[in-house]
Formats: sequence, C-alpha cells, structure tokens
Amino acid sequence: MEIYKDNLFVEMYTETEGHLHGFKKVLFEGKTEFQLMQIVDTYEYGRCLLLDGKMQSSQADEFIYHEFLVHPALTAHPDPKNVLIVGGGEGATLREVLRHQCVEQVDMVEIDGQVVSFAKEHLREWHQGSFEDVRSNIIIGDGRKYIEETSKSYDLIIIDISDPGDAGPAYLLYTVQFYELVKRRLKTSGMLALQAGTSSVIYGEIMASVYLTLQKVFGYVAAFEASVPSFDLPWGFCIAGNEVVPGDISQDEIDRRLLGRFVKDLRAYDGETHAGLFKTTKALRNLLCEKGRLIEDQKPIYTPL
Ligand code: SAM
Repeated sequence: MEIYKDNLFVEMYTETEGHLHGFKKVLFEGKTEFQLMQIVDTYEYGRCLLLDGKMQSSQADEFIYHEFLVHPALTAHPDPKNVLIVGGGEGATLREVLRHQCVEQVDMVEIDGQVVSFAKEHLREWHQGSFEDVRSNIIIGDGRKYIEETSKSYDLIIIDISDPGDAGPAYLLYTVQFYELVKRRLKTSGMLALQAGTSSVIYGEIMASVYLTLQKVFGYVAAFEASVPSFDLPWGFCIAGNEVVPGDISQDEIDRRLLGRFVKDLRAYDGETHAGLFKTTKALRNLLCEKGRLIEDQKPIYTPL
C-alpha cells in the first residue's frame, strides 16, 4: 500500500497496474519480524489487512474468500476430524473450519505471531473468538518446518498463506517439494485445499503453475475461481487429494452434510454453489493448460511485485 494522495492509497499488482482505495484511518502500520503489516479502515471495504502492500482480506468480502477456501473441501470429506491450517493469521479460516461440529481438533501454524496478536485486537469480526475455541491449537512457527517435523496426519490441510513474494516468508510453500511433504501428512482420504493466487488471464501464471505442480504429486486436482471484490481480480483455489473427488458429491449430499454438521448462516457457499463450482470456464481451463510450469525449491515462483 502506497499513499497516492490525501486519503487515497494504491495497492500495486505490477509496476503499471493497481487498485485505488479511499481510506478513513490507518490503525496500524509497522514492520513485524517477517513483513510489513498495515490495518486500514477504508470507505468501501471496511477494515482491511495488508501484508507487504498486498490486500489479505477486507471486512466487506472476507466471507467469500474464507468460505470458498474451507467449505468445498471440508464438506466433500465424509468425516473430517483433524485439520491443519498453515498461515491464516486473521483467524477467519479457523472460524470457518470450526463451524463443522464433527471437527475435533484444528492445528493452525502461523509464522507471524504479531499478525495473530493484531488480529485478536483489531479483526474481531474475522476470528469471532475462534482462537479461544477448545478445539484450536495455535502454533507460531514456519508452516514448512512444521510439516517437515510433525508426525501427525490430517483429514484436511488448508494452506492460507500470502502470495510468494521473493522477500516474503511464503515462497517455499508453493513448490513440488513442499507438496510432497504435505501429501505425507494426509490420511488416505485426506485433501489439501489452498488459495492459488489470481486466476486472471493476464496474471494467472502462478495459479497455472500451482495447478501443474500439484498434478505432479496428487491423483487428482480440482481448480475453481471466485470473485472477491477487494482483490479486484478473479481468485483461484485448488483442492488436491487421492481418493475423494469434490466435484462428484451431489448438491443434496452437500446440503445434507452441512445440516448434519450444524453449519449455519453461510453467505457464499451451499450445495447449489458446490454443484456449479467445478464447472469452470473455458478461459480458466485454457489458462491452466497453457501458462503453468513446475515450481521447485531451486526454481521458485514469485509475484510480479
Ligand atoms: N487471504 C490471503 C491472501 O489473499 O493471500 C492470505 C491470508 S493470511 C493473512 C496469510 C498469512 O500467511 C499471513 O498471516 C502470513 O504471516 C502467513 N504466512 C506466510 N508465510 C508463512 C509460513 N511460511 N508459515 C506459516 N504462515 C505463513
């Protein structure tokens, strides 16, 4: 985020493109050990969290991002009990996972303890007390190191990390070597769900590369996109696994599971949404076939800015 003039700031995507926001107040701006963090009250999107100048989530539309990141995979799993979230500092991914009453434990590994403390203080609407739920286990540490060292296995692993900026803490969590480690920590019917960056035909190289890289490791990979207005660009998500195929679960079965698990008051996702989610546009399918490359520890991928 750079101040453009007076009460306007701009989030730049590349050297030549960005999104202008009007803001009322900067609540916090400072460097943590890992990244630049800004919490800003805007006119159109309410409160927003930015890390290294990039919009992470806004009060007005975070429900779209977090519901799509969590529920298509979690609901497709027939009986999820143990979930791991990597990243997710605002606590909203945790909030959505905990809605499913069948989930017994959620480990959340977030590298930046200051994001969690600031979220507790300034982003109440995001976490809604989820950090204090008895099923939550918050670990401050690097997600990759945790996955390398833990002996636990999970029904679902959700990667909710920042974009792979070259100076940021996330770029080694987008590689084929990392996904191999994740696969070892999944139960047989386990799944991986992640945000894959924009699915825009202009800037979609990262999503296409994540998709291709996941395909090297998992038996199936499903991709879909959603509109999250504060991100300005269409947003991509992937679900990978070996047994459960989310697109095969019917609308009625999804609604039945949501009801049975006492998941109420969702604003973006239900059985009907699920049924249409994996019927992607030709433009997205073309992007995924044409623009990707294998992401490796020795050959990582970075966002343009
Ligand atoms: N909605 C977001 C987006 O659009 O990219 C992601 C949200 S969440 C705030 C991203 C979190 O990932 C941040 O809090 C950041 O500290 C965390 N993170 C980045 N790299 C990480 C790592 N290596 N291990 C664990 N957490 C990490």
